[in-house]
Amino acid sequence: MSFRLDRFATLYVVNPLRRRAFVNQPAIPILMYHSLSEDTETGVHPYYRTATSPHRFASQIKYLHDNGYRTASLTEIVGQLQGRAAVAGKSVVITFDDGYHDFYHHAFPTLNQYGFSATVFLPTAYIGESPVSFKGTDCLTWGEVRELSRRGILFGSHTVTHPQLHELSISKIQEEIANSKNTIEEKLGCAVDSFAYPYAFPQTDTDFKKMLRDSLGQAGYQNGVCTTVGRANRKSEPLFMERLPVNSCDDPALFEAKLAGAYDWIARVQYFTKLVKATSTRLSSSKPSQHRGSENAQASW
Ligand SMILES: [Zn+2]
Repeated sequence: MSFRLDRFATLYVVNPLRRRAFVNQPAIPILMYHSLSEDTETGVHPYYRTATSPHRFASQIKYLHDNGYRTASLTEIVGQLQGRAAVAGKSVVITFDDGYHDFYHHAFPTLNQYGFSATVFLPTAYIGESPVSFKGTDCLTWGEVRELSRRGILFGSHTVTHPQLHELSISKIQEEIANSKNTIEEKLGCAVDSFAYPYAFPQTDTDFKKMLRDSLGQAGYQNGVCTTVGRANRKSEPLFMERLPVNSCDDPALFEAKLAGAYDWIARVQYFTKLVKATSTRLSSSKPSQHRGSENAQASW
């Protein structure tokens, strides 16, 4: 089994220190799930995996319920963090990227059992009237999306084609973020306020971030999430809020530590790693990188 530095440091270094320091900054966990399946992702380091087994997911949701968490929307937590809305108890936001069909059979029944909601981010080119496959896994159909919407699940945009936005022209980026929003709004007949950035977020590229912030605002988005690791807090940008990646390897101890903030330290390592990578890419070549990592935030390491 691979050694997990992130797990070791979180459980045995950061968590004990955090408890002693009585750190109590207002922060809200936004969980990032992808597929709910038994895929063991053999050969992929636990840190980079994106599948969560239905059994592991059920125990995580039960943990949230038993420990007094209530699910909130991204709109609600932005209001809470900015002081416009009262914080009632412990809030958590549960998000799913890529609109996989396994959400329908494995996630929704469990969420529904506890009266929980979630936000699912759709890459609209892969959502059809009949199942369309994305990365080898079927996605939800529009019929299922409509049914889930009626039953309290929220939907946000994850672009149209799930591209590496960082490598596209501004006009193409604007097309991706506007067209996906328009399609979901047309299909569901309600406003879409939330956006999830696909792939690793280029958090050190301030010019790109400014352009994207402006473009998302012009398209009418109110809030969004990315793959920067951490809990959302008062310093978070409402369009690029941090999330906590979750997969089958999140045993109860690690899951609890992540919720409590003991995993937030990863954000600094992630930031400086990206800074070094961006600098070395600029120095070594004027050609843009062909590969910027896989879906998960950790892939940007
Ligand atoms: Zn994605």
